Amino acid sequence: MLDKVLIANRGEIALRILRACKELGIKTVAVHSKVDADLMHVRLADETVCIGPNPSTESYLNSAAIISAMEITDSVAVHPGYGFLAENADFAEQVEKSGFTFIGPSAEVIRMMGDKVAAIQAMRAAGVPTVPGSNGALDDNHERTIELAREIGYPVIIKAASGGGGRGMRVVQTEAHLINAITLTRSEAEAAFGDGTVYMEKFLVTPRHVEVQVLSDGQGNAIHLGDRDCSLQRRHQKVLEEAPAPDIDEQARQNVFDVCVQACIDIGYKGAGTFEFLYENGNYYFIEMNTRVQVEHPVSEMITGVDIVKEQLLIAGGEKLSFTQDEVIFRGHAFECRINAEDAKTFMPSPGKVTAYHPPGGNGVRVDSHLYSSYSVPPNYDSLIAKIITYGKDRDAALGRMRNALDELFIQGIKTNIDLQRDLVCDAGFKRGGVNIHYLEKKLGL
Ligand code: ADP
Repeated sequence: MLDKVLIANRGEIALRILRACKELGIKTVAVHSKVDADLMHVRLADETVCIGPNPSTESYLNSAAIISAMEITDSVAVHPGYGFLAENADFAEQVEKSGFTFIGPSAEVIRMMGDKVAAIQAMRAAGVPTVPGSNGALDDNHERTIELAREIGYPVIIKAASGGGGRGMRVVQTEAHLINAITLTRSEAEAAFGDGTVYMEKFLVTPRHVEVQVLSDGQGNAIHLGDRDCSLQRRHQKVLEEAPAPDIDEQARQNVFDVCVQACIDIGYKGAGTFEFLYENGNYYFIEMNTRVQVEHPVSEMITGVDIVKEQLLIAGGEKLSFTQDEVIFRGHAFECRINAEDAKTFMPSPGKVTAYHPPGGNGVRVDSHLYSSYSVPPNYDSLIAKIITYGKDRDAALGRMRNALDELFIQGIKTNIDLQRDLVCDAGFKRGGVNIHYLEKKLGL
């Protein structure tokens, strides 16, 4: 068992990790930037270290400062949360080289999954269904590329191997634009990521975003915790998620669960991870693997009773998975609404002081948030301030509870997207279930 864990993150996920550590009797170290001294988890941690000024490049992304904090506090492991250094292979490597444990998979696995071409090839080899495409980097042979695009069929999408966060991709509708689009994407990728490698995929026109949560102990045991639907997105940012994904072909679903679990074993995956797929006409197409805990992990916890963060800590401590796939019982349905400090119309971040805060409650309602009355949301970081999660015996029950929970939620002093979430949970199309990834932007008139 890990003795002391340093939490290299902030906000709701830092508090989430702190709670899991405390439940397991693990001592905690909170690191924070100057402006974050009053964060809830900083108040609750056993020890705290200020690692730098407010800009994340000088604090939460400052790996040297974080490793020094581990040394000073005698921490044995670091939990990176999500964002910041969570999928930074160099950081994971430095942590391990300094004699500490990185809570997550090995640096090699993170590196492979961070290179989309390598990731797709590894997944294909493991039998995971991928998007029809170039199956590797595009070279300078334009004739062959044009031929390939014809075989795949238009529209196609050109993607940067090192892209992320929805950046570094371009949809091509016709052959006349193909080569120009490749040249542009390549030079943009070169400038943004220092890597001009690009590849081509079929562009799926109306897919859903369906992802599979896995846990793997790196000792030959892996299980899945079912799927989540995260199709409600704005600019590739998820807004509202649910588990299980509604209206999925059951045979295809079981097959994809099986191949994801097998892929974890094949690549020696260690920790929690997510296989992200586009889902269209009953088929799954792998797009990427996230090698970390995700924002939306609570919906899977609600329907399985498994504490994903605790499992991450146990696996990092060298334990084998303590349960088998057969022991994971899927029950009911769960939703998660992300509450952001942002303007309802422009979606611009809205930092400032929370003058009053009342979280919802009651049976089947969970709130993951670092908010409290008089807390000031700083302008420097992500605008996520709370996650409202509801559980019910079926989809309708969970959604009914979400409507109540959003009615009860009260945040004063800053602008939030609560009204958008209230609108969404009453939306007729969403209530039916299974909307595609363009649904929200269309609804917003974007
Ligand atoms: P990132 O790492 O930038 O998030 P992804 O490969 O996960 O990149 O793709 C981000 C989003 O781009 C997807 O969720 C989807 O909306 C869209 N996308 C990516 N590939 C395709 C594709 N082949 N067809 C249609 N949409 C795609």
